[in-house]
Amino acid sequence: MTLELPRCACGCGAVLVRTGKRGPGPAYASAACRKRAERRRRADAVELPTLVPAEPSMSARPVDAQVERALLEARAVGFALMRLGSQARPELAWRCTKLGEAIIAALGSTFGKETL
Ligand SMILES: [Zn+2]
Repeated sequence: MTLELPRCACGCGAVLVRTGKRGPGPAYASAACRKRAERRRRADAVELPTLVPAEPSMSARPVDAQVERALLEARAVGFALMRLGSQARPELAWRCTKLGEAIIAALGSTFGKETL
């Protein structure tokens, strides 16, 4: 039988050290972990566009409609990456944030604010 050590609630994997004897133990390993979990909860609360499934008939639609659809999908991917930037492990997080911000910025600079 293996002893399950309590782990930090932020998902960093740190083992929690219990300092007092009374009450529930700590939920987070550090103040940074608490902050990270808080940011993640806030990001989850934001309503984000869901990825639209591709339709087989898409290539049969007018090209303008296809462009509009592609822009919506690019926007959804950009926001999804930005959200993942606050959830993924550190090695992936900054890349997700950077790519997400770049996609949203590129949409704004090429098609204007009305696409965002
Ligand atoms: Zn942690």
